[in-house]
Amino acid sequence: MFKKQREKLSGYLSNDIGIDLGTANTLVYMRGQGIVINEPSVVAVNQKTGQVVAVGAQAKEMLGRTPAHIVAVRPLVGGVVSDFEVTEEMLAYLIRRAEANSRKFLGPRVVVGVPSGITNVETRAVRDATKNNGARAVYIVEEPMAAAIGIRLPVNDPVGTMIVDIGGGTSDIAVISLGGIVRSKSLKIAGDKLNQDIISYIRGEFKVLIGEKTAENLKMAIGSVLPPQTTLEASIKGRDLITGLPRELVVSDTDVREAIAFSIDNLIESVKEVLETTPPEIVSDVMSRGLHLVGGGALIKGLPELLAETLKIPVHSADDPMTAVARGAGIILEDFDRYKGVLIENEDELPPHS
Ligand code: ADP
Ligand code: MG
Repeated sequence: MFKKQREKLSGYLSNDIGIDLGTANTLVYMRGQGIVINEPSVVAVNQKTGQVVAVGAQAKEMLGRTPAHIVAVRPLVGGVVSDFEVTEEMLAYLIRRAEANSRKFLGPRVVVGVPSGITNVETRAVRDATKNNGARAVYIVEEPMAAAIGIRLPVNDPVGTMIVDIGGGTSDIAVISLGGIVRSKSLKIAGDKLNQDIISYIRGEFKVLIGEKTAENLKMAIGSVLPPQTTLEASIKGRDLITGLPRELVVSDTDVREAIAFSIDNLIESVKEVLETTPPEIVSDVMSRGLHLVGGGALIKGLPELLAETLKIPVHSADDPMTAVARGAGIILEDFDRYKGVLIENEDELPPHS
């Protein structure tokens, strides 16, 4: 009963927020409210002044349409904090926006999801950037762990659970048991790489240069890893490399499938490698309970079926796979005592509910 009252009081004094700092999309979960921000991880910077001009969707809109001295940066591309200052600016914007509608006495307590395999230096950078933006306490969780919690898997139980999170810059593969990550691998084959594969393929096969946005739209519209029942086609525009003029052409699901086949093979091979180095008892859990797919890349048509067929294990596609990490960060906030064990070395004084 005291705990409940304490939590209520703490809710009056400050907000608790969970942040999924993704390479492609950043989401913010606010305790008691759910997901309040879902924006591309893009920051537009004025190179003359060093000032941030726009963040999120607004910055993404500017891509390719800015004067020379303004650049749009994806500060987390490749799954690392490649630009600390820009990351800090992005966090500042997110925290300010999340806090905008509430007047609370204390700064928020923040759970931040980071890619597994992030270095200690990067973890510290994220922690410092969050602290510098007024957070009262910062808790770091690895994204595959947050995703597993987000889709309500029993991460604290003595059973093996496997998560494959296919994002923009990285894919994270992790096996979890007893509140910890038993095996993991982070690789740079994910959504961005598939877009690049499509660009190269169209250039090679049709001698047409297309932009990244076009490639991504194509992937989402007709991308698949197994032949669909009926042929899918899409019409795209690009620049003919021979005439130099704009050209429109029709591509099919077969083209896209061939374009991404090599990367998809590599991705599956990596999942296999993780399984091969996982202790036998845990592998047997995974074989019976299956693998869970999250992240935007999980939406590629046919991927669950292909993974199941190749690896001979059940594959489950999470509902709403792109919000799993943010929802997990939220669940950690709501039920801190239960999940505090999953956090990365927590040096902060106050647990969220104290
Ligand atoms: P991150 O966690 O790295 O920010 P997300 O989980 O938000 O990444 O996923 C973003 C990636 O998912 C992008 O590369 C995007 O192209 C891809 N994606 C989103 N929707 C689809 C879809 N329907 N089919 C294929 N790929 C998709
Ligand atoms: Mg992610």
